[in-house]
Amino acid sequence: MHKKTITINNEKDYKKLLRRLWLYKRYRFTEFKLVNNIKEPNIDYLEKGLNIKKRKERITYVFDTCCFLLDDFYHGENICGFKDGKCIVQRELKNGKCNGCCRVCLYVTDKGCPSKNVACKLFNCDAVKEKYKTMDYKDLKLLKLLSIKNQLLIRSDYFTLREEALGDQFTYTGTAACIRMIYRLIRNYIKRKRKEKNK
Ligand code: SF4
Ligand code: SF4
Repeated sequence: MHKKTITINNEKDYKKLLRRLWLYKRYRFTEFKLVNNIKEPNIDYLEKGLNIKKRKERITYVFDTCCFLLDDFYHGENICGFKDGKCIVQRELKNGKCNGCCRVCLYVTDKGCPSKNVACKLFNCDAVKEKYKTMDYKDLKLLKLLSIKNQLLIRSDYFTLREEALGDQFTYTGTAACIRMIYRLIRNYIKRKRKEKNK
């Protein structure tokens, strides 16, 4: 395999690398060595991602690593202020609802989300944003290793288990992904209504 070394000595080099990722991610037969002299952790993740050449493997790596980076950013802090199953907004509204934003999701359990999902992890309402410095999709430089279609999808695939979200990512066209998402939304809506009826 051809080898390519890129040295990042300053912010300018880093920005240049980010600008060229759209090109580097297409190098199928090149092993990248990113010399990270500015101690920017994103660079190490980018190097690993660029060196995964199989499509599904790279998508899975980006997805799982973004989930990890989002969890790591908040250090397990309860930013939604959950107490007795109610988030800060639900407690303020005193509307008797629980499970925060997940309350309308088919998959939510008493212990929270049984899976992981980048879109859900990226979402924060204004109440949270006012109190905490939150992470935005722009902070996840790894997402640049995905196609434009997958970058859009990964930010909007709410109420979806990891395996389903990855299935959406693996599709080759936006139309196929949209059909999967719409089918799942309708199917889960019906299942949730049935579940509520049988309670
Ligand atoms: S994002 Fe806001 S509304 Fe959603 S669970 Fe957190 S505090 Fe509640
Ligand atoms: S998939 Fe999303 S909405 Fe559903 S339980 Fe998990 S975090 Fe909540």
